[in-house]
Amino acid sequence: MGGGLMESGMVPTVPAKKSLLTPKAIIHQKFGDKACYKVEEVQEETKTGCLGLAIPQKGPCLYRCTLQLPELVVISDTFKKKKDAEQSAAEKALEKLCIHQKEYNPTVQEAWDDLGGRLFDLFATEFLSSHHPLSGHFRAALQREGRLCGSVPISVIATYDAKISTICKYINSEAESNFLIVLSLVLRAASKLDNLVTSVDEQLSLQRRNPLLPEIIHALVDRESRLSESLSIEVIRIPSSVEKTVEPLVLTISSNGYYVDVIAQELGVNEASKVFISGTIGKASSDMRLYYNAPECLLMDQLSEPHVNLASHDKGSLNARASYLSGQEVFGDAILAAVGYSWKSSDLFHEDVSLRTYYRLLVHMMPSGVYKLSREAILAAELPMAFTTRSNWKGSFPREILCTFCRVHRLSEPLFESSIDLAGSCKKSKVQSVKKDTNGAPVTSSCGKSTGTIGDFKCEIKIFSKRQELILQYKPKESYKKQTDAMQSSALKVLLWLNTFFENPDMTTETLSSSAEKLGIQFSPDIFSKKFMFCQSVHKFGSTRHQSSKPINYSCINQPNNIVSDKACSICGDNSEITPSNGSLACVSYSISLVTEGEFLKEHIESSEAFEFEIGSEAAISRLEAVVTQMSVGQSSFFNMELPPQEFILAAAGDSAATQSLLSSRRCILEYAVTLLQVTEPLEERMEQALFSPSLSKQRVEFAVQHIRESRAASLVDFGCGSGSLLDSLLDYSTSLEKIAGVDISGKGLARAAKTLHPKLNRNSSAEVPSNETRSVLLYKGSVTNFDSRLYGFDIGTCLEVIEHMEEEDASLFGEVVLKSFCPRILIVSTPNYEYNSILQKSTSSGQEDDPDEKNKPKFRNHDHKFEWTRAQFNHWASDLAERHNYDVEFSGVGGKADVEPGFASQIAIFRRRDSSLKNVELEHHYESIWEWSSDNM
Ligand code: SAH
Ligand code: MG
Repeated sequence: MGGGLMESGMVPTVPAKKSLLTPKAIIHQKFGDKACYKVEEVQEETKTGCLGLAIPQKGPCLYRCTLQLPELVVISDTFKKKKDAEQSAAEKALEKLCIHQKEYNPTVQEAWDDLGGRLFDLFATEFLSSHHPLSGHFRAALQREGRLCGSVPISVIATYDAKISTICKYINSEAESNFLIVLSLVLRAASKLDNLVTSVDEQLSLQRRNPLLPEIIHALVDRESRLSESLSIEVIRIPSSVEKTVEPLVLTISSNGYYVDVIAQELGVNEASKVFISGTIGKASSDMRLYYNAPECLLMDQLSEPHVNLASHDKGSLNARASYLSGQEVFGDAILAAVGYSWKSSDLFHEDVSLRTYYRLLVHMMPSGVYKLSREAILAAELPMAFTTRSNWKGSFPREILCTFCRVHRLSEPLFESSIDLAGSCKKSKVQSVKKDTNGAPVTSSCGKSTGTIGDFKCEIKIFSKRQELILQYKPKESYKKQTDAMQSSALKVLLWLNTFFENPDMTTETLSSSAEKLGIQFSPDIFSKKFMFCQSVHKFGSTRHQSSKPINYSCINQPNNIVSDKACSICGDNSEITPSNGSLACVSYSISLVTEGEFLKEHIESSEAFEFEIGSEAAISRLEAVVTQMSVGQSSFFNMELPPQEFILAAAGDSAATQSLLSSRRCILEYAVTLLQVTEPLEERMEQALFSPSLSKQRVEFAVQHIRESRAASLVDFGCGSGSLLDSLLDYSTSLEKIAGVDISGKGLARAAKTLHPKLNRNSSAEVPSNETRSVLLYKGSVTNFDSRLYGFDIGTCLEVIEHMEEEDASLFGEVVLKSFCPRILIVSTPNYEYNSILQKSTSSGQEDDPDEKNKPKFRNHDHKFEWTRAQFNHWASDLAERHNYDVEFSGVGGKADVEPGFASQIAIFRRRDSSLKNVELEHHYESIWEWSSDNM
């Protein structure tokens, strides 16, 4: 960090002293994500030579930076370095905003003087031809009729001049949050300038005392009306009563009209000075704002007596939806419009605001909504439940979403606090959310700790209000191998919790508290409910994640002939056998329509040609994910769903009017049509396939099958059978097995296993397949760390690539339980050999995440692995276990060779029980029987 300070020849304005912030840093403090820098390359400008001739030069490449802030846009000079251009733009912006690097810190008297000075400047003739957005209002005002000619509403001045709002804060600190105070201060300052400006019309507008010369007016007005015909602008009316629906409107602004007057009339008042304007909403660049008129009584009281407490007033006409969107109190009906003058041009700028825009703004206030919008899949995507890997995460990252969430709710930037556990000692480093986290702590993690503790990084999160009240704090329990994973996972936890509230804002504080407690989140209920008090009236959503999309239930799969057939879902197309599994990326195309029940009127709502999501992390609505896991590549599926909250549908629909009328007139459902286009297997499988033929997983299965056949076993249990790849392959061989069982903790895996085993078992009764003794096949759901007497004393047990998916303590526990209680005659256990990873990972370097910090240390093969052992670690675990339970153990493996470094890719231990007698065990049923096939039922 220190090095940067020594660099000479930087922009002269970069402070030499460490204690002073750079202009960019100040801008960041004030605006956070709202500051948008765009750097462009420019050809060096032609220089004027000594003879006054333009000499074109092909100079070095130069950069110019445009900085966009909510209230202003500035363009830097040109520089050789991009960062210099950015600093220059930031510096210019600070100048315009009256924020000096030495911190603008006037006394109250100085601030009053500055306020007067600023008004004086605004009413000077020169201002009319400046590029300030406010100058457009001054020019438009010249075309107003009669007494109003040349009069500019104070609310407009207070809204569009950043300098005035900065100055007012120093006169009265409440000015920042109370717009009425700014108005009253401006009014008082103006009254002291009464030789220059006078207030007109119930004191809410200002105009020059001495009118401008007609020539000047003519020149300006002529230009203005030359530019434009009348304009039609689509806007939205948000009634103050939440019972009334939000509706679209078209405003027509004639070429010589003042747009704020037009809005005033729409709001039922006669002219612009009664109209209040909110801060910008949504994207800073669009200048979308709410226009409303404050109740007269409130206004007058406030203006005559600026310290009245607002709370004492009747807030009956408070507009909940508009207040929620703008983060300030809005009264009465409001109009949402994107219109105004800009720094870029003197024309009136506008964008249409549709119903869809409005609903998107609403959806954007919810954590899951931000995610859905970032994926452009409002009805298909869901905020995932887990951050698995960077490469599998699609759409905005959790940290970004959390920053956006805080921004739209007008909270301070969230504070991320990373800690690294270096050999037990905890180092902390604060990382204020900046785009590049270069000021993070050193990321050399402790070496020699490959024994499988989960990781070294943790990330705490704190969220404060703008007034620095602590709203919530999250202290994670888990730690991570990588700093970014720690940060993203923490952000996601917070988002998921916030989301439970947004999906059901009516929930009681107790419910909210207990869900927070479970996650390790502390929050301040008072401040929280004050901050989000409008949610209840605005998001009348009800819980969506659980209610609208039930996963397929497995209870129906007990009968062999009715496997996983969700009645309302039909899958068609040939089975290509390429099916997604946990951790793989599924790519689907889909189309969603709104369909009326019975009449089949259809309105297309949302579709995608290629929507990619990770299976198992709930990145798609769960119904969609459940259906896709039942499909193979090339197949299509159709299903219907109950309606999600209307806000989502209207935010997605292209034609919101048609959709709204359908929704309001008839009972509708959503119809989904999905085609599975492609499945990308998890990194582990990709690596294994790239290097081995047949693939490593096939080799493992073949290894097991060979031992099973040689052992002449009559009974087999596959611990952690997953989707049944071993059981499935076994049926392709003739074996002596009569009884086969599989156990897994994952219901989804078991459902898939049942689905593939069922047809095969029935087919096996016909002649063309290997003869089998198989009498029964059972699938159990449960953890292999628990004993179940139904699986006691089997001839052979297999446990392929399972232990590394458990915490190390559980892997040890499984070892104990299996040899001490299950007592199989033979047990085969496989797990990755960590030492082999460097070879695997070299072979597929393209498919990997680039993380410079961990370049030299092999990663685990799969994000779900809790540990991966070296040969020595595995030998130690297995030998010790065997010794204690009277088993012999022998080591082998697949992929590579035992005597060539670094050994096998998959290491395998084969345990054999020394003593052949079995005891009687008490009945203990800890597993749930999920599916059963028996040859008697054929
Ligand atoms: N043996 C299979 C699946 C390996 S993936 C194969 O070789 O293809 C690991 C499996 O272990 C997953 O299906 C996971 O659900 C299961 N698993 C993880 N922890 C478990 C536990 N405690 N009890 C039972 N199964 C577990
Ligand atoms: Mg594994």
